[in-house]
Amino acid sequence: MRTPLIAANWKMNLGPEGGLALYREVRRRLQGVRGVEIVLCPPFVTLPALAAARPATRSNIALGAQDCHWASHGAYTGDVSAPMLRPLCEWVIIGHSERREGHGESDALIHKKLHAVLDAGLRPILCVGEGRAAREAGETASVIRGQLLDGLADLPAAQVREPLVVAYEPIWAIGSGQAASAVEANRVAGIIVRAALSDHYGEQIAAQVRVLYGGSVTPANIADFLRQPDIDGALVGGASLDAASFAALVKAAQ
Ligand code: PEP
Repeated sequence: MRTPLIAANWKMNLGPEGGLALYREVRRRLQGVRGVEIVLCPPFVTLPALAAARPATRSNIALGAQDCHWASHGAYTGDVSAPMLRPLCEWVIIGHSERREGHGESDALIHKKLHAVLDAGLRPILCVGEGRAAREAGETASVIRGQLLDGLADLPAAQVREPLVVAYEPIWAIGSGQAASAVEANRVAGIIVRAALSDHYGEQIAAQVRVLYGGSVTPANIADFLRQPDIDGALVGGASLDAASFAALVKAAQ
């Protein structure tokens, strides 16, 4: 049994004041919701305000960062390390397509970041996804398999068993208003992502790792994705910036 997970990627939206207002409204709407893990990933500068506003115990809303550096400290201007994030959050998104494409992040770099996240005791949401050209060329399986296996590489099974979450985010679906079909997303989650995990770590771990879908998820289409056997939740961009729609997504997964 895999607990559903709904994660919000606020991207470069909402500084401390606006982020706190959205957090409070999300928290109000989701009070008492159980049976689904909820993760909010605000910008770095907003994380401390949200971390400070959380109740000390029994919060049903976890926090995450949208990226981190692979090193623990050093001469890396403008970067933030996983150990620095440790007091503020539990999760880190790694390998989002906006970092792979916009910042030239390679699978080798993403692998180093995964190590850093796990070594710091944080949980990674590893994003994989094919672009439109690869999709049209019939290369979805090889692209996703490559991103996943080169990203995980030598990470031992014991380190990924519990914490790892994979988000399948076809690049052409992100922010486009054109989500993948639920059946197609389930096919990728099952016979590409889980099959690659099974080849690498064995069937048992492949069955434990949660696989999310991301790309234009809304309250209108979330149920279709959640109905699929290999999809365990969603990574949500645009629709997570509105408290009512994000709460509706979480309640659909409850
Ligand atoms: C994302 O960028 O992770 C994402 C899924 O964005 P959106 O929901 O806006 O497509």
